[in-house]
Amino acid sequence: MLKITNLHASVNDKAILRGINLEVNPGEVHAIMGPNGSGKSTLASVIAGKEEYEVTDGTISLGDAVIDDLAAEERAHKGIFLSFQYPVEIPGVSVTNFIKTAINETRKAKGLEDMPAKDMLKLIREKAEMLEIDRKFLSRSLNEGFSGGEKKRNEIFQMAMLEPKLAILDETDSGLDIDALRIVANGVNKLKSKDNAVIVITHYQRLLDHIVPDFVHVLHEGRIVKTGGKELAHELEEKGYDWIKEEVNA
Ligand code: ADP
Ligand code: MG
Ligand code: MG
Repeated sequence: MLKITNLHASVNDKAILRGINLEVNPGEVHAIMGPNGSGKSTLASVIAGKEEYEVTDGTISLGDAVIDDLAAEERAHKGIFLSFQYPVEIPGVSVTNFIKTAINETRKAKGLEDMPAKDMLKLIREKAEMLEIDRKFLSRSLNEGFSGGEKKRNEIFQMAMLEPKLAILDETDSGLDIDALRIVANGVNKLKSKDNAVIVITHYQRLLDHIVPDFVHVLHEGRIVKTGGKELAHELEEKGYDWIKEEVNA
């Protein structure tokens, strides 16, 4: 599904990613962990195609297609979803109306007509019910005065509606409280299937008790320096990152 080969990227001429190799297959959940400043959010942004980042070497493929030259919007249309991609507050635009527009834009990019209003309504009801989101929330203005938990609920709802092939959830700096953590974990677990894949970026081993990853990767100074199973997350929780840095430098 996703194949990253020898990816190097920089911001403002500062090299941040220094040779990332990563392969994600359908049905898999990958966790990316690592100390602050190791490049986790940069990696997420580069996969999603954010413009501030310059790819200086390497390549990213989605399925059979190289996506290096695609803009963020085109990548989104191809099924890459990055949390916090739409963090804007839009007074007067409801959670529902925003997602309707996003869905119809995605359809348009594929040469499809708008989704019939009836089908849209049905889809919204279905997903809201699955995620235990109430009607009142759906009619609120996008991100306006949202609590941390509500922001997460909105993100997971967007993800559920858009049904991405690859969802990337960057939870590093969001200070997840217990409520938000539960929302993210339940949402991901409900939306997980054999046809899609999830990359969860997190500081918190706790989150990985609820979203059980198939692989855990540790990022350090812009490289994946260690890959393991879910037990690696526990080891990191227990021992921190210093032993990995020592291994790398040995
Ligand atoms: P992480 O998510 O692992 O904490 P980041 O990817 O946010 O790490 O950051 C990696 C490094 O890149 C840090 O040193 C950070 O200061 C730098 N960096 C990230 N984004 C920018 C930016 N837009 N401008 C300048 N430096 C940046
Ligand atoms: Mg950080
Ligand atoms: Mg980060």
